[in-house]
Amino acid sequence: MEKVVIVGTGCAGLTAAIYAGRASLSPLVLQGLQPGGQLTTTTAVENFPGFPEGVDGPDLIMRMQAQAEKFGARFQFGTLEEFDPGGPHHRIKVDGQWLETETLIVASGAAAKWPGLAGEKQFIGHGLTSCATCDGAFYRDVPVCVIGGGDSACEEANFLTRFASVVYLIHRRDTLRASKIMADRVLANPKIKPLWNRKPVEYLADEEGHVRGIILEDIQTGAREELAVKCIFVAIGHTPNTAPFRGKLDTDDNGYLVQHDTVRTNVPGVFAAGDVADHVYRQAITAAGEGCAAAIQAERYLAARE
Ligand code: NAP
Repeated sequence: MEKVVIVGTGCAGLTAAIYAGRASLSPLVLQGLQPGGQLTTTTAVENFPGFPEGVDGPDLIMRMQAQAEKFGARFQFGTLEEFDPGGPHHRIKVDGQWLETETLIVASGAAAKWPGLAGEKQFIGHGLTSCATCDGAFYRDVPVCVIGGGDSACEEANFLTRFASVVYLIHRRDTLRASKIMADRVLANPKIKPLWNRKPVEYLADEEGHVRGIILEDIQTGAREELAVKCIFVAIGHTPNTAPFRGKLDTDDNGYLVQHDTVRTNVPGVFAAGDVADHVYRQAITAAGEGCAAAIQAERYLAARE
């Protein structure tokens, strides 16, 4: 029987682990398919308080994990497959094994969205990716493109100018959704060429099945054009990782967990923190704040039961 199980090792899960560890609750922390969460796919984080020079995303995550381990958090690789909310205890199935826990902190984050074009699965890893940090360095001195117009797309486009000969930024509108500072940076970068009012309609492959280009459609005129690129970086937002909780925990229309009084879910003893529930702020610092709140709530819940 566990006292606290934390699902996820992004900013929310790791902050919850630090707080629950420090409260002597010895939390079990489940590391899923993407340990470290979305910060591991980012480069410089410039807005996390306490780092005036910026901090590398993976480095920040490693430091948080070390801090949690210092206070007794236990880490286990495993994916939560099923959730069975209980009265006194909750049951979770992790890689085929059932575990029981008194409290559960769901901090499973969100996964990248894809445009949903024909043959997409085959192209992923062959010139179609959602992670510039992971794959950007493979595309030196060749043209690439980024799909999207938010902060993620701008960040990816800026980062890719380190390697690529040109970075086309394909956006379905004529203004960026990104914050002003990010948008200004992109628009001032001579290596980034925005292509406005365009949507992707088809991936093009070379003889080896690797991306050689993309067909775009002008949203206003319907005209189609072929763009020769060696890699397509997708940055069009995220879907919350809530599949095992559907029908058991309340979710909104987009699948995000619903929070009451900051981090409580509809099931007593189960808390939700970070991007799995937050579709508004979605920041490292707000996820960390919710992780902290979830651990404190879990601690209070356990104390009240005792
Ligand atoms: P986002 O803000 O939701 O932007 C998604 C972009 O993709 C939008 O421009 C959207 O177009 C476009 N899009 C969505 N579906 C599409 C489709 N099927 N085809 C083509 N384009 C599509 O997502 P995000 O950029 O990942 O940012 C998420 C949150 O994280 C935001 O709150 C952001 O501020 C934050 N963030 C912050 C930083 C930072 O501060 N360093 C970095 C990354 C992310 P429309 O504009 O037309 O809807």
